[in-house]
Amino acid sequence: MPSFVGAIDNGTTSSRFLIFDEKGDLVIGHQLEYRQIYPHSGWVEQDPLDILGSVVTCIDAAIRKFELQGNDIKQLKGIGITNQRETTVVWDRNTGKPLHNAIVWSDTRTGDVVHELCESSEKGANAVKDICGLPITTYFSAVKLRWLLDNSKEVKEAQDNGTLMFGTVDSWLIYNLTGGVYGGAHVTDVTNASRTMLMNIRELTWSEECLKFFGVDSKVLPEIKPSSSLFGEINLNDLEIIKGLPIAGCLGDQHAALVGQHCFQVGEAKNTYGTGCFLVFNTGEEIVPSENGLLTTVGYQFEGEPAAYALEGSIAVAGSAVKWLRDNMGIINSAEEINALAESTPDNGGVVFITAFSGLFAPYWRPDVRGSILGLSQHTTKHHLARATLEATCFQTRAIIDAMNSDSGKPLKTLRVDGGLSNSDICMQMQANILGIEVSRPQMRESTALGAATAAAVHLGVGMWEGGFKAFTERVRERKEVLQKFAPAIQETEREKQYDLWKKAIDMTLSWS
Ligand code: ADP
Repeated sequence: MPSFVGAIDNGTTSSRFLIFDEKGDLVIGHQLEYRQIYPHSGWVEQDPLDILGSVVTCIDAAIRKFELQGNDIKQLKGIGITNQRETTVVWDRNTGKPLHNAIVWSDTRTGDVVHELCESSEKGANAVKDICGLPITTYFSAVKLRWLLDNSKEVKEAQDNGTLMFGTVDSWLIYNLTGGVYGGAHVTDVTNASRTMLMNIRELTWSEECLKFFGVDSKVLPEIKPSSSLFGEINLNDLEIIKGLPIAGCLGDQHAALVGQHCFQVGEAKNTYGTGCFLVFNTGEEIVPSENGLLTTVGYQFEGEPAAYALEGSIAVAGSAVKWLRDNMGIINSAEEINALAESTPDNGGVVFITAFSGLFAPYWRPDVRGSILGLSQHTTKHHLARATLEATCFQTRAIIDAMNSDSGKPLKTLRVDGGLSNSDICMQMQANILGIEVSRPQMRESTALGAATAAAVHLGVGMWEGGFKAFTERVRERKEVLQKFAPAIQETEREKQYDLWKKAIDMTLSWS
């Protein structure tokens, strides 16, 4: 009987549970959006119980569909988890209950904490960059945890009493799925840990120096494991049907997409267009510090193998700008509608949209910046705004690739893409035009979930993943993949003219803030 492997994919706006067959093809899945909470401007929260509930519902629903297809649940051999990164969850060891809403990665409430921490070190924002690879910004978990310790009595008391448990969403989910207060595993993987600012990226262990810098007690932290290893076994009443199933893979979403897109060679990169947009470039066993505003991070680690490192360019707002046109402006009724709107005009009519709703991430790192729309005239229509919205992510990607080419010294020749917004043909064509290199899109765009399933399946030796990581990467190299390609279709002079206008708009926006 054929085997299958499942992937929990907790994105910023929705959860999914997808099941892959032993050839790596997607057979069934279930997806559920969950609640976003915006208590103040710049604040973004989620209820950890909503996140958990959405995951459990997705697993349950997908398994029912899987069985309706005529499969037996025993054919499901294990589960991998991938998750929105940096989002910070705190809960109580005695009750297993959250002590605060999760603070989401894009939340910028920690501006003052960042300022104070930067002031406290001669190295400013780079105070612990040599250890953890990251500059101090509002983005990373340790800064959010510091805010919680300073602003929530319950969280501070729990740390003082030794009952505080901290985790990124992977840890929260694994803890609950493996039994919660009844012996749930408090674990994370190297990729998620590399986004907290608390891990030494060379040693792959929690750093005493970082813990001291942020005032965090080591007892609150999960155990760090390789991305492809045993994290625990399902032990939850609501999921009795898969009790005992191993969770054998765990990666932050962008790292999972790197694995799912099979970027295992040094110099291979992928760009995932989801709520935000994240370009990750494999640097192999070498830890490359960025001179140009990029992040140094752990790409992935398979058990028994050295960690692969990566350079990352992060964009805070991508698909969420499309959502903003839908929910805040009412210009479109669904995300897909933006494409017809953008296609109905040949250009942006001189409109440039800087979608800095929660500051600008790489390569600028300015949490204080807010968005702007420049170049409006009597002639401007929603069609131009739709185009400018899609172009915003493409121009920011160009800024990141320019930085990455400088850091790595090896100009990128092809950009592999995935994520919800990569479904937009017009956006991907714009991307090729703005970059001047080919954009290559796989048929199966659920790379993030595939990466998590891959990590689990390699550990468990399921199907095409049998024989360990090295055997799998050999097979990947020999494989012929069907890719949809978008080639640049504008002249170099036009490309640079458009990009110069964008840079001018960025400079104006930075000075306005
Ligand atoms: P995440 O994993 O961060 O939750 P997804 O990868 O699911 O995000 O992507 C969702 C985003 O992609 C949404 O913000 C949505 O606006 C956008 N999106 C999805 N499909 C399309 C499409 N066909 N055209 C344009 N945008 C799309």
